[in-house]
Amino acid sequence: MALMRSMLLAASQNVWLREHAVTYPFVRRSVSRFMPGETLETALAAAQVLRQKNIGAVFTHLGENVSDRGEARNVTERCLELLERIRRSDLPVEVSLKLTQLGLDLSPDFCFDNLLRIIQSQPASATVWVDMEASRYVDATLDIYKRALKNHRNVGLCLQSYLRRTRKDLADLLPLRPAIRLVKGAYKEARDLVFRKKVHVDESYFALAQVMLRAQAAGECARAAFGTHDVTLIRRIADFASQQGYAKSSVEVQMLYGIQRAEQERLAREGYRSLVLVAYGSYWYPWFVRRLAERPANLWFMLRNVFAS
Ligand SMILES: Cc1cc2nc3c(=O)[nH]c(=O)nc-3n(C[C@H](O)[C@H](O)[C@H](O)COP(=O)(O)OP(=O)(O)OC[C@H]3O[C@@H](n4cnc5c(N)ncnc54)[C@H](O)[C@@H]3O)c2cc1C
Repeated sequence: MALMRSMLLAASQNVWLREHAVTYPFVRRSVSRFMPGETLETALAAAQVLRQKNIGAVFTHLGENVSDRGEARNVTERCLELLERIRRSDLPVEVSLKLTQLGLDLSPDFCFDNLLRIIQSQPASATVWVDMEASRYVDATLDIYKRALKNHRNVGLCLQSYLRRTRKDLADLLPLRPAIRLVKGAYKEARDLVFRKKVHVDESYFALAQVMLRAQAAGECARAAFGTHDVTLIRRIADFASQQGYAKSSVEVQMLYGIQRAEQERLAREGYRSLVLVAYGSYWYPWFVRRLAERPANLWFMLRNVFAS
């Protein structure tokens, strides 16, 4: 399983596959399990359906690592247009973005300026989420996040429980009253940087979740959100919150579109905060292959699509 995950993560970076795999109909059929469509309209329609179930949405326009300033400015403009469309739609939708889309590889200051334009366009009540990418970006992402948080409360950051450093990163952030979305982590990383066994990644997640919930109750964490589909872990976190006397609404779970739908609905029904990350856009190949790596059984689902024409 670990070998399969490793191969898939390597495939997610392969340029030839990225250019060719996306043209195969069975690959396109498979990706539709994880995203409602490539256009903003399909994402808005999905958010509308989710709202009827009391589930919020976070939109992410797929794309990574832009290589020139013009492209990064375009991404920023597109994001501003998206936020305007969302505002007009009156749907409870937030956005999540990758700093490498805003030019992090080109210049941290330039990337920060782009992020700032996006944050400033938003009301204080709508969080702009910053994804966490591969470990080589963690320091720069934390720096930019801390700078943004100094003057703007409506910005949240993703942290990854597979990284050994995250416990300290979280402790360093708490004095700034951050909004944190905790995930396990989706990238291929050097062995010494991460917990290698799943059980240790899960324990790290649970330990960090307890710190976040305690901090939230003490007013030191603006928002504690848990980005996971791990039902056992969600139950442990919910039990911990209940033992501490925290309201169900203080436990926020974010999942990806199309995964664990019944659990998303159960959480919303029972009074937890349930949000779904809805991806859209045409640059879905690396994102989709990371989803396959998370659960190699998805490969069988894709292979079944080869024959389902
Ligand atoms: C809202 C959200 C935002 C995220 N943002 C980031 C980010 O910024 N940076 C980053 O590195 N990672 C991000 N991730 C991905 C994350 O790091 C994990 O790779 C992913 O969530 C799988 O881990 P898990 O917590 O669901 O637990 P796992 O232990 O991997 O899975 C638990 C169970 O969930 C189900 N499941 C999990 N993944 C899938 C799948 N792909 N298909 C079908 N079933 C599945 C399976 O039943 C599995 O047994 C995000 C995830 C979510 C939900």
